Amino acid sequence: MENTTNQYLLLTPGPLTTTTTVRAAMLQDWCTWDDDYNHDIVEVIRAELVNLATQHQGYTSVLMQGSGSASVEATIGTVMTDDDKLLVISNGTYGERMGEIARYLKINHRVMTLAETECPKAVQVANILDSDPAITHVAMVHCETTTGILNPIDAICDVVKTRNKIMILDAMSSFGGIPFDMGALGIDFMISSANKCIQGVPGFAFVIAKQSQLELCQGRARSLVLDLYAQWQCMQQQQGKWRFTSPTHTVRAFHQAMIELQQEGGVNARYQRYKTNQSLLVKGMQQLGFRCLLSKNVHSPIITSFLSPIHKQYVFKLFYNELKNKGFVIYPGKVSDADCFRIGNIGDVYPNDIKQLIIAIKTSMYWCNDD
Ligand SMILES: *Cc1c(COP(=O)(O)O)cnc(C)c1O
Repeated sequence: MENTTNQYLLLTPGPLTTTTTVRAAMLQDWCTWDDDYNHDIVEVIRAELVNLATQHQGYTSVLMQGSGSASVEATIGTVMTDDDKLLVISNGTYGERMGEIARYLKINHRVMTLAETECPKAVQVANILDSDPAITHVAMVHCETTTGILNPIDAICDVVKTRNKIMILDAMSSFGGIPFDMGALGIDFMISSANKCIQGVPGFAFVIAKQSQLELCQGRARSLVLDLYAQWQCMQQQQGKWRFTSPTHTVRAFHQAMIELQQEGGVNARYQRYKTNQSLLVKGMQQLGFRCLLSKNVHSPIITSFLSPIHKQYVFKLFYNELKNKGFVIYPGKVSDADCFRIGNIGDVYPNDIKQLIIAIKTSMYWCNDD
């Protein structure tokens, strides 16, 4: 789908570049009381999310107002009891945020903190679980958007499941763009949002849950608004009804985005496109002399961190503005101990866009031109 109305391409990890047709789906006001919204839009989305997440039976989904973090907070705050203890695996901002959520909510927890360039190893997680039997739940991020590192969920989930712990996965920036089956991996709660790989617009997020686990969560939530169980019950019993004002336009756009994901060929086809985008990006950037922060074997097909040029004339903001004027918006770095910038390649972005981007970058390297 060609973008005809955008002034620039968002090469960011969400909000991202959406199609004209996804944005056009918002040009109508929707009533939240009728079947043509609740039954034909919300319930269809809920069922389709479960289909995308797993082939296994016994899973359900809940949509929740707010940004992705609101749904992470709703999940942690609704699932954990006062007798439980959460292990948070953290190698970036989003892992750290889950630890912060537990701290705010006064949930017994422990954070396993790794360098932002390092993947957690299954044996490290196994050692913690074996030496701290109070731990009942494990939370981790799939693609840590801070750097673009792809954490090894297969090996970690295996360690967690063989010890019968509950697994919570922040798959915010990977779900819909990287194929995996949450049932096969034994993930109990998985969180993602409308404005990432499904390519919708921001405004709500969602949790896909093992139903038998979610059923245990009545009355546990530490917040009225972020009560995941109550939201789920409302949607289940009233056929797609949200407890409080539903972000109708965003939901309608998301429904269109899910149709377009199908039209593209599903998650596998989208994954192939993202992978092609990302490898073209890395190849092109390396030819221009840029170096990646992470080694290639831990790259995700979502977003890539590049080390900033060490030239004394280089200023990110100037580089950013040059590129924005040429129609490309890149992303600042977020790593604590390295000077980086990031380029995402998810959204309505194609290999030809990446080729154009590389040309634009080549002509924006003002620090190479003088002296
Ligand atoms: C985008 C993202 C989130 C959620 O961020 P919000 O700004 O709250 O939408 C959480 N985790 C990861 C890994 C993300 O990429």
